[in-house]
Amino acid sequence: MNEKSEIQKFLKQQKTLFGNELFFKSTNTINEDKTLLSNRRHLSSDLIQFCNSICLCQECPLASTRNNFVFGVGDPNADLMLIGEAPGEKEDQKGEPFVGKSGKLLDKILRAINKSRNEGVYIANVLKCRPPDNRDPLASEVDKCEPYLLRQIKLIKPKLIVSLGRVSGKTLLKTDIPLKEMRSTLHDYHGIPLKVTYHPAALLRNPNFKKDAWEDFQWVRDYLTR
Ligand code: SF4
Repeated sequence: MNEKSEIQKFLKQQKTLFGNELFFKSTNTINEDKTLLSNRRHLSSDLIQFCNSICLCQECPLASTRNNFVFGVGDPNADLMLIGEAPGEKEDQKGEPFVGKSGKLLDKILRAINKSRNEGVYIANVLKCRPPDNRDPLASEVDKCEPYLLRQIKLIKPKLIVSLGRVSGKTLLKTDIPLKEMRSTLHDYHGIPLKVTYHPAALLRNPNFKKDAWEDFQWVRDYLTR
C-alpha cells in the first residue's frame, strides 16, 4: 500500500472515530453523525491515545483487506465489557462493532437490563479488522491482535466481561467446548470474571436461544448490582 492511500485510510479512520472536529478548527457539529459524536465523547483520552497508536496496524494480513479498523465503542468507565470475535461486513464499513440487525438486538437486550452501549458498557472484538467472508479468526491473527484487547481491558477495568458467541468464547478461553458448556461456568480472563453467552446474530437465526440468552443477561444485571 502506498503512502497516499495509507494517509487517506488514516484520515477516514479518524473521521469515523472522532467526527469532523479533529479536521477543522472551526467546529461545525450540526451535520455530524450522532453516534460518531457519542463514540468520541465516550473515549477517554487514554483510549483515544491507544486507538491512535494502533489504528494503522499492519501486524497481520487483515490490514490489507479491511475498510476500517474497528477499535471499540462505549463508556470508558464501563463495568460491563462485551466482546465479539471480529467485525463483520457492516462493522467493517462503519468502523463500529455490532451494528446492523444484530447490533440493534444487542442494544435492545442492553436496554432491558437498564444499560446502553454508551452508559456502563463498552463493546469490542477480539480482532480489530474483518476476516474475509466473516470466517473465524485464525490463531495467528489472534496472537497479533489479542494484546490490543488486553490493553483495552486494562484501561477500561470492567467488573465483568461477557463474551458474545462460541467463537469469541473459545478464542478468549483457548478451549474448544460447546457453547452450552461455556455458558454454564463463570470463567476468568486475565483476572476479570468472564461469562459466555449467545452472539446476537445467533439469536436472530434461532429465536429459541433467546430464553437462555435473556437468563444470561438477567444474571449479568444481578451480578453487576451485587
Ligand atoms: S486484525 Fe489486529 S493485528 Fe491484524 S491488522 Fe488488524 S489490528 Fe492489526
